[in-house]
Amino acid sequence: MKIAILLLTAFAPLVDAKSWKAGMASVDISPAEPIYLNGYGARTHPSTGVKQRLWAKALALEDEKGKRVVIVTTDLLGMPGAVSDVIAARLAKQSGLRREQLMINSSHTHAAPMVEGNLGTMFDLNAAERLAIHNYTERLKDQMVDVVTKAIAELKPAHVALGHGKAGFAINRRVLAKTGAYVIGTNPQGPIDHDVPVLRITSLDGKLLGALFGYTCHNTTMGGDIYEAHGDYAGFAQQAFEKEHPGAMGMFFIQCAGDQNPNPRGKFEQAEQYGKELAAAASSVIAGKMQELNGPLRASLRMGELNFKLHTRETFEEELKDKLPAKVRRAQYMLALYDRRQPMRSTPYPVQAIRFGKQWTLVALGGEVVIDYQIRIKKEFAGEDITVAGYSNDVMCYIPSLRVLKEGGYEADSSMIYYGKPGPFAESVEESVMATVYKVLADVGRKRK
Ligand SMILES: [Zn+2]
Repeated sequence: MKIAILLLTAFAPLVDAKSWKAGMASVDISPAEPIYLNGYGARTHPSTGVKQRLWAKALALEDEKGKRVVIVTTDLLGMPGAVSDVIAARLAKQSGLRREQLMINSSHTHAAPMVEGNLGTMFDLNAAERLAIHNYTERLKDQMVDVVTKAIAELKPAHVALGHGKAGFAINRRVLAKTGAYVIGTNPQGPIDHDVPVLRITSLDGKLLGALFGYTCHNTTMGGDIYEAHGDYAGFAQQAFEKEHPGAMGMFFIQCAGDQNPNPRGKFEQAEQYGKELAAAASSVIAGKMQELNGPLRASLRMGELNFKLHTRETFEEELKDKLPAKVRRAQYMLALYDRRQPMRSTPYPVQAIRFGKQWTLVALGGEVVIDYQIRIKKEFAGEDITVAGYSNDVMCYIPSLRVLKEGGYEADSSMIYYGKPGPFAESVEESVMATVYKVLADVGRKRK
């Protein structure tokens, strides 16, 4: 009996590793016509061209029992939840994919087209500019459904392995100014995480099919003076990876980078250099010894609800007189909601977890999550490898930790103006996020340390 168990244990990983199926597909989501690029409120007109192609890429995985997940990465600032839901609903109908089996991550490049429903109060758009965004969004929905469908159709036996590297260009960007306010700068003492998680997909005969790699840094090497679409460092990283590994796909996902910036920033050469650094980190991981992952796949997605700090109608009546146009647009929107007797008191918040056997869990949080969450979740669930993505399934606004909320500044408060949200979150924000995190992690069988 003892010998039989030992034998089973010895051979089990080999059998499991071979039982994966993987499929990958990509689609060019570059804008075909001039369109407002998202992320920098200082932009004054639509795009003038495409400097670097933008992509949506899908990785479909199936364990030996036939359980699937599809991870989709996009060179977008943020996929709004309403659009993700339409894509997910179509895929549920066509492919039987359940909502928790689909993860959509946005790289947060600040030079991708606006998508309807994301940062709706940032610009004062005319009808033609709105139509361009509407048309782009409709095309994007079709392309997203197609790319997932193709990846599923490509499913073939494969090996799936995990490893970690490092890249050093991210820095904490929250700086305490002499005025006592937190401003955006470079803070070498602030929390960071330079980890580069890498998932490697190879065919059974050892050919590299692709890799999914993550990093925790805003895709903001370039500023708002650029009117040509590009993927920033993540775009360059994927490009560099694919150049080094012809025929293989490089996929980038962003982690909890809400308060992380590249350093220094401002030049295309820097974005390219960071991209190469990240691609080199991923390449060196896949060339080294990696951990073969086993099934089963388990996935869960739950919606939490995050409450905003209490506000009144008077706050926004006052804001109507503000000099900042975006603040006036936000006030108009909030007052319209008051008129309908539906003031915005909270926002839905998606939290997802995908667990590979008992080896690795990928947590995917919605919104522009600050790094405190990544650090906290990794610490509380240490013992079995865990990675925390942000900007997933919905990018509704920044998600500050209680610390960042109390400190104030852009990530806590002023960014809400552009996101069309009423103001800062209530102090319950961090525990509300974590309550949903605990639920999805319990769903996939993870226990707190
Ligand atoms: Zn951001």
